[in-house]
Amino acid sequence: MAAPRKAWCQCCITGGGPAGIMLGYLLARAGLDVIVLEKHADFFRDFRGDTIHPSTLALFDELGLLSRFLQLPHHAVRELRMAFGPTQVRIADFRYLPTPCRFIALMPQWDFLDFLAGQARAYPTFALRMATEATGLIEEQGRIVGVRARDDDGELEIRADLCVAADGRHSTLRERAGMRVRDLGAPMDVLWFRLARRPGAADQPLGRFGAGEILIAIDRGDYWQCGYVIPKGGYEALRARGLEAFRGRLARFVPALAGEIAALANWDEIKLLTVKVDRLERWWRPGLLCIGDAAHAMSPIAGVGVNLAIQDAVATANEVAGPLLDAALGDDHLARVQRRRQWPAALTQRLQLLVQNRVIAGVLQEEEQVRPPMALRLIDRLPLLRRLPARLIGLGVRPEHIATPDVGTS
Ligand SMILES: Cc1cc2nc3c(=O)[nH]c(=O)nc-3n(C[C@H](O)[C@H](O)[C@H](O)COP(=O)(O)OP(=O)(O)OC[C@H]3O[C@@H](n4cnc5c(N)ncnc54)[C@H](O)[C@@H]3O)c2cc1C
Repeated sequence: MAAPRKAWCQCCITGGGPAGIMLGYLLARAGLDVIVLEKHADFFRDFRGDTIHPSTLALFDELGLLSRFLQLPHHAVRELRMAFGPTQVRIADFRYLPTPCRFIALMPQWDFLDFLAGQARAYPTFALRMATEATGLIEEQGRIVGVRARDDDGELEIRADLCVAADGRHSTLRERAGMRVRDLGAPMDVLWFRLARRPGAADQPLGRFGAGEILIAIDRGDYWQCGYVIPKGGYEALRARGLEAFRGRLARFVPALAGEIAALANWDEIKLLTVKVDRLERWWRPGLLCIGDAAHAMSPIAGVGVNLAIQDAVATANEVAGPLLDAALGDDHLARVQRRRQWPAALTQRLQLLVQNRVIAGVLQEEEQVRPPMALRLIDRLPLLRRLPARLIGLGVRPEHIATPDVGTS
């Protein structure tokens, strides 16, 4: 067998999702040699998360990227509406946030990642290796000193002063590093599919709740990206009842889309996305740091996971760029990233668990018509109250700011 090819960089990031690409961009922008490994060959696949929140847009503003970013096709959501049976409630109003963009930009994640990777590629020290899968870690005397990977040409060994695991909720690297994970539980999974959207079709509430049913419908211009929430582990039983039964159930739930639902031709068009909520006890080991979902897998609730991953990337870059440039990175820098980001992640997860367990689990078991919970009815009635969820969802807790320099692209 051929010997592995070898490479070196100051920071090797595994995972070309929001956390990995953003961190790679910021570090290369600060003048560091960065390699990002992404196991897929492109970004064009069904991702989880199309919601670019005001917190991320504010960072793009700080980076001078905002106007270019907003030229990409997107749908601006200024107010979140949910329907419980026939009753619609407004649950968040972003129009009063103290931030440059007072809306959520709905954009397919592949466009978002393509944009960010394009900015990063302008820096000569940035390398994104697509179709390259990290398979393990290189450890010497208790310290992680590199990543083993595989691409079409064979095995690779990449040595780095810092390895970052940004490889998502099923992180290979955190598992190889033997890190302890606390599973926080999730009562649901999501079926992910598209329905055609006719020109001029009426707006749909982003979320719709009925007896035993929840549907999220994201407007992507010529189609609705739908997430249909099912009880955890319920997929096989649903599938066994057949596609016809599923289509019928969905059409009864959303009669306005019955024609589009009838066009779902087979199960290949419907993907099962498993929901997981967990958190590492310790996010780092000497030489290795986990961020994004690899450190704290987020529930889809409130569509905050992508934005939290971006915040982790900014906090990491702020903390490690200087020490990496000075070849002086120590464990304390990694511990500081965890200390800074653990609290926002834990608080957000706690709120997600509250909604999951108090609202979602209840609705999925409900056989009668559902009504909006009292708290949501109050929020709907009192405009001032709608600013609080807008702040929590749109800006999150402890928003980060760019503190790394830009060395320029030439
Ligand atoms: C059903 C569902 C819907 C969601 N909807 C939303 C939403 O609307 N908005 C929102 O903000 N959040 C949403 N989330 C949460 C969101 O998906 C995550 O929090 C977010 O994607 C985390 O970003 P990340 O960069 O940490 O990880 P990921 O986005 O998971 O990216 C990890 C990357 O690593 C790559 N990778 C994995 N293993 C390897 C390997 N061994 N080698 C190389 N590459 C590897 C993967 O291919 C992937 O590109 C949703 C989650 C679920 C489950």
